Amino acid sequence: MIDFEIPEDAKIIRETVRKFVRDHCIPAEEGLTADTFDEKLAALRVKAREEGLWCPFIPEEHGGMGLKPLANALVQMELGESILGALSMNTQGPDDATMLTLLTHGTDHQKEKFLKPLLNGEKRICYSMTEKAAGADATGMQTSAVADGDNFVLNGEKWFSSSADVADIAVVMAKTNPEAPRHRQFTTFIVELPNPGYNIIRNIPTMHGESPLMEKIGATHSEIEIKDLVVPKENVLGGLGGGFEMGQHRLAYGRLRHGMHNVARAQRALDLAAKHVTSRDTFGSRLADRQGVQWMLAECASELYMARLMLLHIAYKAEKGMDLRQENSIAKVFLAHMVHKVVDTALQLHGALGYSHDTPLAAWYTAIRSQRLVDGPDEVHKWRVGKNVIRAYEQFGTTASAAGGDLL
Ligand SMILES: Cc1cc2nc3c(=O)[nH]c(=O)nc-3n(C[C@H](O)[C@H](O)[C@H](O)COP(=O)(O)OP(=O)(O)OC[C@H]3O[C@@H](n4cnc5c(N)ncnc54)[C@H](O)[C@@H]3O)c2cc1C
Repeated sequence: MIDFEIPEDAKIIRETVRKFVRDHCIPAEEGLTADTFDEKLAALRVKAREEGLWCPFIPEEHGGMGLKPLANALVQMELGESILGALSMNTQGPDDATMLTLLTHGTDHQKEKFLKPLLNGEKRICYSMTEKAAGADATGMQTSAVADGDNFVLNGEKWFSSSADVADIAVVMAKTNPEAPRHRQFTTFIVELPNPGYNIIRNIPTMHGESPLMEKIGATHSEIEIKDLVVPKENVLGGLGGGFEMGQHRLAYGRLRHGMHNVARAQRALDLAAKHVTSRDTFGSRLADRQGVQWMLAECASELYMARLMLLHIAYKAEKGMDLRQENSIAKVFLAHMVHKVVDTALQLHGALGYSHDTPLAAWYTAIRSQRLVDGPDEVHKWRVGKNVIRAYEQFGTTASAAGGDLL
């Protein structure tokens, strides 16, 4: 028998986090502005720490909760309901995935100097890989790093570095050896900010819009000039030529975290939709009593159900240390579309109210479009998934192992 019973300790943590998000984070969204953000977040963080809710997947000896993949997934699926959820427990992107990389690949010195203040919530970190020159195929990156005594000197550009505006540290990828095999040409560097060699040219205007609050939260994406940026050799993360390995390490978790937060956001959108349709009458009936509306809600519920099962299966594989790359790519694409569909449906059912900024739906709608691009666009993931389908067929005479079939 497959056991879907959630272990008691994970259940308790999930309930605690759910209550924390609903009792504290969602109410704190009321009146949230750039001016009130620092105070509100500080108060939430004090409260979260009092309840032992801090850095969920970071081991306890580093001050985190030490949650394993399943418990962490359950927690993240709650946190995404509020814009303040992950921030309140210091598990917001892009910081969280980079903390994980520092924890796994950093030297003792790097952990002490850079990871500690991140884990304490005193500093923020951003990740600069993508360039105007190259995104989905990051091997096209042009930023170079040349050794010079005890340092490297970096020159080039970066594009769409999220949270660079509020970051105290940047993790920057640059080419150290153009002669090496494609995936060994790049190295990751830890850069202390502000730095005259790492120059934020602008926050790129996006379809999600800009506001002082978004700047404060770090929901901005910067264009960076890298000019004669001097980085000590001791700040190389994960060894020379290890840049891609570092990148994949953080992206693997980042993709899943986006997906988990997408489940939470979709859940809240569906709740908002249900609240609205049960209180709104048109043509003499509640919207909730129309079969057409019920079908719309049913489709959202089906998508959310599939999304949850995918994440739970991936968490299971992660707990067992199994290879989950195929499932991660499948889920990344599915969850990005799922949240889009559910938020779009909720917005539609709210009518003009949904199009307004009197509910969070309109802002979510424009924000989540990025989910189909970040951490690898749909097509690149599908390309990989498709290749694995063919490989499985050629190896085993069936595609089952590439399509969740190893479950059965
Ligand atoms: C909101 C947001 C936040 C981001 N944050 C960060 C960050 O913090 N740090 C960072 O380094 N980067 C970040 N990025 C960049 C992101 O990782 C890239 O946008 C992504 O990798 C795609 O690269 P690109 O935009 O250059 O698209 P391109 O590589 O130019 O691709 C364009 C399009 O071509 C298609 N395509 C590409 N390759 C294939 C293929 N093999 N087969 C079929 N179709 C293909 C896809 O439709 C793709 O969308 C962010 C992007 C966004 C939108």
